Order: sequence, then structure tokens, then C-alpha cells
Amino acid sequence: MSQRSVEIYDTTLRDGTQQEGISLTANDKLVVARLLDDLGVAYVEGGWPGANPKDDEFFERAKTELDLQHAVLTAFGSTRRKDARPEDDEQLAALLAAGTDVICLVGKTWDYHVEHALRTTPAEAVLMVADSIEYLRSQGRRVFFDAEHFFDGYRTNADFALAVLKSARDAGAERIVMCDTNGGVLAQDVQRIVGEVATALGDTALGCHFHNDSGMAVANSITAVLEGVHQVQGCVNGYGERTGNADLCTLIPNLGLKMGLETIPKERFERLTTVSHHIAEVINLTLDPHLPYVGNSAFTHKAGLHTSALARRPDAYEHMSPAQVGNHTRVVVSELAGRSTVLAKAEAQGFELTAAQAQGVVDKVKELEHLGYHFEAADGSFELLLREAQGWKHHFFELESYRVFVEHRAGEVLAEATVKVTVGDERIVTTREGDGPVSALDRALRAALIDAYPEVASIKLIDYRVRDLDSSDGSSARVRVLAEHSDGHDSWGTVGVHPNIIDASWKAVVEGIVLGLILTRGPDNGG
Ligand SMILES: [Zn+2]
Repeated sequence: MSQRSVEIYDTTLRDGTQQEGISLTANDKLVVARLLDDLGVAYVEGGWPGANPKDDEFFERAKTELDLQHAVLTAFGSTRRKDARPEDDEQLAALLAAGTDVICLVGKTWDYHVEHALRTTPAEAVLMVADSIEYLRSQGRRVFFDAEHFFDGYRTNADFALAVLKSARDAGAERIVMCDTNGGVLAQDVQRIVGEVATALGDTALGCHFHNDSGMAVANSITAVLEGVHQVQGCVNGYGERTGNADLCTLIPNLGLKMGLETIPKERFERLTTVSHHIAEVINLTLDPHLPYVGNSAFTHKAGLHTSALARRPDAYEHMSPAQVGNHTRVVVSELAGRSTVLAKAEAQGFELTAAQAQGVVDKVKELEHLGYHFEAADGSFELLLREAQGWKHHFFELESYRVFVEHRAGEVLAEATVKVTVGDERIVTTREGDGPVSALDRALRAALIDAYPEVASIKLIDYRVRDLDSSDGSSARVRVLAEHSDGHDSWGTVGVHPNIIDASWKAVVEGIVLGLILTRGPDNGG
């Protein structure tokens, strides 16, 4: 018996961009489409032609610039207007002009919407769907039908909702996609309704499209698949309006790795984490670390006892091997942790410590955490501790001094920093301005190093957080700075603590650049 397959239909570029804070240029969309193709989804919905100029530009450029190897590009749009002919309809014309082989057409299946939003009769609403599909078919296009508000519609008037689906099928729609547009349906209703629709529509290929307003989008999609649905629609990282769409990064491994269904090509599952993070980068939103499968914390362990057992028997503490989806086990260090955590984390980062070195790191972590350091979000600073425990010291540059001024003049605030360093035999003095003292220091240091280490140009400070630490032990108050750095490929966190916010920041900035240099040159190539 051949393996049952489920089509993955991605709508990140259309429904996903409805999320607050997401705005993609046509160029961004081309990049995301290529990443989705690389992941191996069956369909990439590119946008809504005619709805905005960016989507029109995307489809125009896609004709020559997008060479998808695996996925099929689709265009999304609504049916013809009421009481009009499809051949006169601007929306349908824009869909055809987009030039995709497949068009996903959305139409009303809830009588309440027909009455109050469309303000027409049920009979005309059915015709709007059927006429539009027939017309697009006559122009040589494949059509999928998105039945908007289907579950609400079915619950209030099943006869009308089913009549729309049947007319869409009879007009030539290849997929009948049941959409939970408001995201309120629960799995038991999905099971019942999809089961009834599957019986009513015979062997028509069904699809589903769930929103996450009840926290059920992935569970509902799986329930629908169990009831025979062939296509699931969703977004990478669960992006989408309000609480988002069904998260494909959770659904794909659930369906493919746990349920044994054919989804994306087998060898591509391990690309999932990279594609998820890369798309988050293009979208310019920090990825939620707690996302299943792909989040940075998805396979992160904390407690000391547990981590020593984890090193021996990972399958006792992880629901699957993270490598299957391209993620990895992380062990976080905290002052609760003993030597086994430090050893496990060192090993995970590729270090072999002697027992004495490990004890040295444990003592150092305890001492620093007492001062307010925190290594859970500062893998980079922890790596430097491990190297130092092995007797390593960086020779990329030597700091002589830094200073920074902040000037308020005529309503403007400007910061200026001067850094003096020695690189090899050369003493370098640079001054740079910035919006604030930390960015001025960061720029001045990178300017001082750029001749010797051109790659510092691509090392960026991508996140910077300051926290006041209260001085319960009677010592002076301190601040902790957590900084996240990236070279566009990898990212690493560093931490600095000091009574003075500038010096705490300086430490985090310097360590960020040292780690970036270790990445490009190896630990021993400096100076
Ligand atoms: Zn939607």
C-alpha cells in the first residue's frame, strides 16, 4: 500500500502578512518564496493580485525571476461581484494577469455573510462562486476554492454551505478548502463537520485552513487530515492575523515524522529550522524561542540532574531527535547547575574539559552569577569562559582605553565615542558618532578593527537589553546588559554587568565582536 500524502499549501505571503507588524516588499516575497520552495511545500500562495501594488509587482517579477523547482505558485482572490459578468470583473482579470497556473478563489459559504456583507440572495451567492470558477477554468487555469467562514456557515445553515461547495466542485474546482476564518471552532466540531462533508462530497479532494484564535489551528488541521482532508493550508512560524494561522513548522513534522504521512520530501525535514529562522529574519521579527520543533528553546534543558541523564539517554527526555528537523539540544547554565550541566553544555558546544577545568568553570559561573551575570541567554560569553578555562586568551586586539560623550544641543542628542586599541603592532585611535553611547562605541570599535578584520562590517548588534539588578546584598546597584549579535548567518548572545551601564554594554559589545572573529578566523588566528 502506498503512503498516504497530504499537500502542504503555504499562505505566509498572503495570510501571514496580515499579521500586525509584518510588511514585505516584493523582493522579500521573492526571497521567502524561494525558501519555501527549498523546504519542499507543494504550493506557495504569493498574494492577492489587484489588492495592492506590492503584490502586483511580486507576480510580475515572479514571471521572470522566480524559478521554483518544487512548489507551484498560486494567486489568491475573491469571486466576481454580485450581479455582474465574470468577464467584466476587475478582480478576476487581475488574477488572470498574475499568470499563475493555479488560482485560489475565496467565496462566501455562511448565509449570515451573504445577507449582511454581500447583501444578496443565496442563489446569487452560489452563482458568484460557480460562474467565477467556470470562467477561470475556461481561461485554462486550475482553481482551488477557499470556502470562507465555512465552519460557522455549516453550523448555522448546513444546506446552504454544502450547496456552495457542491457548485464549486461542479464548476471545476480541484480542491474544496474548508476555512475557519474566525478561528473559533474546536476539534470535535471539525471531526463531525469534515466527516459529514467528506460523505456528502464523495471523492472530491478536500482542504482545510485554520486560524489559531482558540489555540486549535494545528490540532484542528490534524483532525481534518484524520477525517480525510488532502490539503492543509498554513503559515511558517504560525504567522497570520490576530493569533495567526496553523503553524506549518509544527504541522509538517507532526504529519510527516509522527504520523508517517507524505508531506515534504523526506530529506528536507532537516531544513525546517533553518527555513523558519531565515524567514523570521526576512520578516524582521524575533522568532518566538518557544515554538515547537524550530524554536531555540524547543530542545533546551535546564535542571542539573536531568542534564547528566540527558547526555546518556537523550530519548528519555526529548520527544524526538532535534536533528530530524535541523534543531539541536541546548543545555542552559544557571547557578543551580552542577558540574554535569557544565560538562554537557561544553560538550554540546564542542569542548572537552578536564574535571579540573569543569570545576573551574562551575566556580566561575557561580561567582559571576552572584554578581548578576546570567548565561542562559549568553551562549557567546559562556563559550569565552570555556575557552579561558582551557588557558585561551584572545589576541585579536588590545584595548588601551575608550571614552564616550553625550551632548544635548538645540534639542538634539548626539553621542560621540573614541576608542584606542592596538592591533598587532599598530596603535589605532578612532572616533565615531551614534544615536546613543552604545552605538557610538560599537561603531568606533568596529572602525578601529575594520582594516585588520574586514568581516567586522557584517557583525551587527541585533538586540540589546538592559536590566537593573537590585542590590539586596548591600553592594552598589548594578545593571546587566544582554546583547545579541549576528553575522547574517549565526547569532550569539553576550552579557556584561557593571555599576556603570556604559561599561556593562562595552563588555557585551567587545565579547560579541571577539566571538564574531573566532567564527570567521578560528580562535588562534588573531594578532
Ligand atoms: Zn485565513
